Amino acid sequence: MGEWWVVGEPGPDHGLARLSAEIATLARELGAAAGRDVVGVVVAAEPSEPAAELARYLPRVLAIGDAAAGDHAWAGVAAAHLAALVEAEPPELVLSGAGPDGRDLAGALSALTGLGVLTNATSLAWGDTGPTVEMSVFGGKLLTTSGFTGGRGIATVRPNVTTAVAAAAAAVMVEARTTIAEALPAVRVVDRVSEAGAAAPIEEAKIIVAGGRGVGGPDGFGLVGQLADVLGGAVGATRAAVDSGWIPYSQQIGQTGKIVKPELYLALGISGAIQHKVGMQTAGTIVAVNRDPDAPIAEFADLLVVGDLFQVGNALLEQLRSRSG
Ligand SMILES: Cc1cc2nc3c(=O)[nH]c(=O)nc-3n(C[C@H](O)[C@H](O)[C@H](O)COP(=O)(O)OP(=O)(O)OC[C@H]3O[C@@H](n4cnc5c(N)ncnc54)[C@H](O)[C@@H]3O)c2cc1C
Repeated sequence: MGEWWVVGEPGPDHGLARLSAEIATLARELGAAAGRDVVGVVVAAEPSEPAAELARYLPRVLAIGDAAAGDHAWAGVAAAHLAALVEAEPPELVLSGAGPDGRDLAGALSALTGLGVLTNATSLAWGDTGPTVEMSVFGGKLLTTSGFTGGRGIATVRPNVTTAVAAAAAAVMVEARTTIAEALPAVRVVDRVSEAGAAAPIEEAKIIVAGGRGVGGPDGFGLVGQLADVLGGAVGATRAAVDSGWIPYSQQIGQTGKIVKPELYLALGISGAIQHKVGMQTAGTIVAVNRDPDAPIAEFADLLVVGDLFQVGNALLEQLRSRSG
């Protein structure tokens, strides 16, 4: 038996990534049922802020300060510290996010420690021989449940599989030090560039208005953007629209894009292919506008408006504007 660790990943403004708070919530609830201690681990140049944030969700958090985490690729530095911790006292489970940083970290940590990795978890459970991980594979067509050989390992968890909820009790924060056995090849960060469209991150949006091939071109996204603006939401897209160059990849939702969980998902001219569905199916309410009543999205939308998206979208925009004005 061992502890479960939740890796606190760096978020915006030197804080904690929202995904880490979600994973901490998931691990805390499952850990309580399985009788396991769940510990947060934060590695950062200035760990106090993200560690304090993670401590809102977990009973104990280790904060490891390393200046290298600020000006080098975070995952490599964090993996080296975590590997030293694993060496000292191997945990049963290490959880990180299934985003770019969390995936890099999981791979590096696996290589350094020999622990296996289960990726892209959509949920965690407690099995007979240890933690089990549910994963969506083949573009969401199949769900698999897997455990670790030897009962120990690393899992990356998808965003938006749960909602972050702070713990009732205050946590203990511990400053930790590790001795890194061997330095990883350090990747120095020479510049940070904000991605176009990142002003409104779609993973965090409560409302998303998304456009597909049906919007017909970049101009069609003008209407999508206006609806998003008036609703105070973000713009999303299908891969068909992204591949056509109508909108940046940063807005793509689905299997090879982002996973979102807004309260409202308004889909304009989107057929609802399985690879898109896996990125947005947990939205609170899905409203689709499609001229084809038999489009696959009809099967999982809460409301399907059958009609031309420009007619319906412009009428909706007019209504919303008259209400807000
Ligand atoms: C390995 C792999 C990974 C993939 N990853 C992703 C992914 O991450 N995200 C993703 O989205 N896709 C992904 N895809 C692609 C996916 O299979 C679909 O091709 C894509 O989602 C279709 O996009 P769409 O709905 O915009 O286009 P279409 O399927 O062409 O649908 C367009 C819809 O618009 C409707 N329409 C057209 N004109 C109008 C109008 N004027 N008014 C109202 N409705 C109208 C049509 O009836 C139709 O239903 C992936 C595919 C593969 C093989």
